[in-house]
Amino acid sequence: MTKRPKIVAGNWKMNLLQNEAKLLAQSLNNGVQSIHNDNLIVLVFPGFTLLNTTSQSAIHFQVGAQNFYPEKNGAYTGEVSIEQLQDLNLKYALVGHSERRIIFSESNTLVRSKLLTAIDNDITPILCIGETSDIRDQKQHFQYIASQLKDALNDLNPHQVAKIIIAYEPVWAIGTGITATAQQAEEMHAFIRNWFAENFNIEIANSIPIIYGGSCNDSNALELFSCPNVDGGLIGGASLNVNQFLSIIKTINGLS
Ligand code: PEP
Repeated sequence: MTKRPKIVAGNWKMNLLQNEAKLLAQSLNNGVQSIHNDNLIVLVFPGFTLLNTTSQSAIHFQVGAQNFYPEKNGAYTGEVSIEQLQDLNLKYALVGHSERRIIFSESNTLVRSKLLTAIDNDITPILCIGETSDIRDQKQHFQYIASQLKDALNDLNPHQVAKIIIAYEPVWAIGTGITATAQQAEEMHAFIRNWFAENFNIEIANSIPIIYGGSCNDSNALELFSCPNVDGGLIGGASLNVNQFLSIIKTINGLS
């Protein structure tokens, strides 16, 4: 059976100035350089203005973009193209984060278009999916996640799907301090893996990394990441604190 990588990704969102990003990136780099694990991927997603500064210190971790627009170039004021990300040697991008879907009204069509653009340009997309508390209260969360997966991935070929990382991020857990229980995370991750087995094939289901996001911190990391179908985490708030973030990374490293 394929050994899936363990992934710890920090989403810095719209935080930090140059000096703060530089310090955080340097401390992170110092902290991860003693971890020798080919199966562990450490990533951070700074805001656009911080990509260069962060990349300069990123020897032992990777840097990705929080967003991009899926057109080659042209009259898209305020947007950043995938070619501009490649120009910075970036290899990862977030796609479909719930803050973009909700605050910036990103449609499933746009999410899908971004996903395809990333795959076609050799940028690994982390496709974020997750239900709101209303949907979970109505016990519609499994159907909802299946529909988000279908909208984003329908008609992709297995070769394309094999390039994706999935982040299950229940909206009710993002930035709220309320984390999914290990049981809730594991049952959804197993459901998502099974969705890939049914809609693509068992090899893809077994090899696709599925990470969890939503109020992860150094106190709940061990429980969440011990789940067999949870391959790591997308960490927001706690990734801004280097000690917290390193502690999460070390926890996952110890499990891999
Ligand atoms: C996120 O924004 O992807 C996230 C998981 O945020 P937080 O860890 O702050 O809930």
